[in-house]
Amino acid sequence: MMKPVSLAPGDRFGSRVVLSEAKRIGPRKMRAATVKCLCGRIDDVILSDLRSGRSKMCGDCGRGSRAAIARLHALVAAAAERGT
Ligand SMILES: [Zn+2]
Repeated sequence: MMKPVSLAPGDRFGSRVVLSEAKRIGPRKMRAATVKCLCGRIDDVILSDLRSGRSKMCGDCGRGSRAAIARLHALVAAAAERGT
């Protein structure tokens, strides 16, 4: 028996934050969470992948896409202006 894994909105994994628990996905009906990446992209991700660090950023950020990086830089710049 595996221990049930706690999952709460606001939990942070790498650059992703949990919004809510998602429907189970995949052939093994794995638990999944709806997560929002710092770049703004929202995906459903298998919980064990989040916890192991395999899915700690979205596909855009993982590939280092220029659009994702530009959005990240804009967020960082906005945070710096606010002094946070
Ligand atoms: Zn991202």
